[in-house]
Amino acid sequence: VAVCPIDVNDAVERTLMLLRTSVPPHVEIASELDSAMPKAASDAEQLKQVLFNLVQNAVQAMPEGGRVTVSTSAPPDETSGFHLTSRAAEYVELRIRDTGPGIPEAEREHVFVPFFTTKEKGTGLGLAISQRIIRSHGGTITLQSRPGEGTEFLIRLPAVQEPK
Ligand code: ADP
Ligand code: MG
Repeated sequence: VAVCPIDVNDAVERTLMLLRTSVPPHVEIASELDSAMPKAASDAEQLKQVLFNLVQNAVQAMPEGGRVTVSTSAPPDETSGFHLTSRAAEYVELRIRDTGPGIPEAEREHVFVPFFTTKEKGTGLGLAISQRIIRSHGGTITLQSRPGEGTEFLIRLPAVQEPK
């Protein structure tokens, strides 16, 4: 695959444009994109596939309606006065959060396992493939969920340092 510096906000916008054409009217899709995003080391087609999987899961989790928000954020600015020693400064972040039912604690450790699904016609492959893609680019994917309140997936991808 072609791993090169990609524009994450552009990948988000293109994926949401595609999804909005098929999402039921009671689901709102929003985005909060950080205009200061550096490029990320990834493959644009694969990142779009990951975003598609995650937003589609969120939509499917909210048959009664709700909101999915995709947000991006740049690494903390090293000139902001804080001296960063952690690797946090090297990663861009993407969050996909929904207002759905959440994932019960007992299921959370299984959702990335291939073929784990709670859907009648699910494949259980969306998250397994997404995790594989993100890890293959040196990134991580984690989730937080509160039953009754929603779910948030956090993706971290290596930022590409722009020459100053
Ligand atoms: P599939 O969508 O085919 O079931 P996935 O790998 O995409 O397979 O997801 C695995 C399981 O994780 C789903 O069946 C569902 O139980 C759970 N899940 C994933 N995303 C969400 C979400 N946003 N809200 C609630 N449950 C979720
Ligand atoms: Mg899925």
